[in-house]
Order: sequence, then C-alpha cells, then structure tokens
Amino acid sequence: MADPSKAVRENVPGAFFVDSTCIDCDTCRQLAPRTFAEAGEHSYVAMQPQGEDLRAAFRALVACPTASIGTLGENLAREAMAEFPLALEPGIAYLGFASRDSYGGSSYLAGSWMIDAPRYHPALFTRIEKLEFIFLTHRDDVADAARYAAHFKAKRVIHEGDLDAMPDAEIVLRGDEPVELAPGFLAIPTPGHTRGHCVLLHDGVLFSGDHLAWDRAAGQASAHRDVCWYSWEQQRRSMERLLDYEIRRVLPGHGQAFELAPAAMRAELAALVGRM
Ligand code: SF4
Repeated sequence: MADPSKAVRENVPGAFFVDSTCIDCDTCRQLAPRTFAEAGEHSYVAMQPQGEDLRAAFRALVACPTASIGTLGENLAREAMAEFPLALEPGIAYLGFASRDSYGGSSYLAGSWMIDAPRYHPALFTRIEKLEFIFLTHRDDVADAARYAAHFKAKRVIHEGDLDAMPDAEIVLRGDEPVELAPGFLAIPTPGHTRGHCVLLHDGVLFSGDHLAWDRAAGQASAHRDVCWYSWEQQRRSMERLLDYEIRRVLPGHGQAFELAPAAMRAELAALVGRM
C-alpha cells in the first residue's frame, strides 16, 4: 500500500498520490499519461484524474510494481483488476501487474502465448483462459514465469544465451537464425541488450523486449545504450535485421509502444540503425 506520509512533494493536491518508493519504471505514465508525469527519478500526480482518466489511474495503481500509487478517495482497484488483461487489439492484450523483479517490465498475451511474465497474481489466473507458451525475450523480464508455467502447464521459451535466468525452460532457442515456433509466431534472435535476447513477431506485432521502444521526448524509435548489458554493436546489427520484416506495431518490455504503417516502420527503424 502506498503511504501518504511518504507522498512525493510534486503531487498536486487531491486524492491520488505517488509515494517515494516509486522506481520510475514509466508504467503509470504509459497507462494514464494525463494523470502521471516524471520528476527526475520518480513519477508524481500531475493532474488529479476524473472521468475516464480515473479508470486509467486505477489501472496504473494496479499495474504499479511497487504499490507506490495510492488514493485517499473511493478505491476502485478491485474493478480495475478485473480489466486485466487489457485488450490492445483482437487477440492481443497487456497483462498489467508489473513485477519489481523485472523493473516494472510490460508483459503481454497473444492468443495462448504470454510474452514476458508479470508478477504472480491470482486475478490473472482466473482471467487467462488458456496459456500454452511463455516466451521470455531475455533474462531480465522472467518475473514469475515459473509460477504461471506451473499453473497452466505452459512451455517456457528462452534463448540459450540467457538460459541461466530460466534453466528449466522447456524450449531452448539456439544460434542466430529466426525460428517459427508455431504458425504465425516467429522468434528472432536479437543479441545486444543481453547475449540471448530475442524478439517475437506475430501478425505484424513485434514484442520487442528491451531491444526497441519509442522515445516520447524525441518522438522517434529508440534503443538504449546506457542499459545495453552485452554488445551495442551486436544490438545495432540485430536492429538492422528487423528491416527484413513487416512490422506495424511494437510492444516493448520497457518504454512506450508505437504503431506505424509497415513502410513507415521500416523507415523509422532504418533511421534508428543509422543513429546507432
Ligand atoms: S508505475 Fe509505480 S513504480 Fe512505476 S513509475 Fe509509476 S509510480 Fe513509479
């Protein structure tokens, strides 16, 4: 529970607040951008939510990995929990319930596939109908994958380069070649951020892990050299290989999602490769 006595000083007066346990993961700013904003190394309530923004703010409260968001007013968290998985488009949903272990990483559902794992929460167990595979983009975002795998008897997929993060994974990807794991689900090794980083392409949607996201401030696609743990040169080459694919939407593990027509997406990624 967020503690009002630790509320950060930037919060505007009113019921909603962020406290000093915030780890600046960006989740609330993505889910409720009119309510939450960034102040240095934490979020704060920039505008008290009303109407539709109130629902979005409660979704952020539920998704927050550190329970750093609180409210002194009516608590609609239970109703917000029931909104997850949150549909993004037919067959694809955002799971919420971000985990501190993955620094608030985003996880998704695509049909019966989970992409990266949220924190354990029974509310999700009852709302996910079927889970056959858990695709782990890389070592940092496995969170509670093992518990979801055990509950749903799902197979976990990870690349051998990051296997020590999930050593008992049922499916281990090897080498650099893309692998069609099931019709319409293409795993593409993208070493760079970590040695075993992979992305998953499904129906034009790229689940990009920590390889690629959108830089809101610059208004362009971006990769982050300051959190590249393995090889920036390899990450650049991995980015270049994405130019071979038709991508219309990018759903990252951290940072902002984005959507462009495939030709514009290719141009955007080519420009990013140039900057890298
Ligand atoms: S979701 Fe929670 S931890 Fe993440 S930035 Fe917002 S308040 Fe901070």
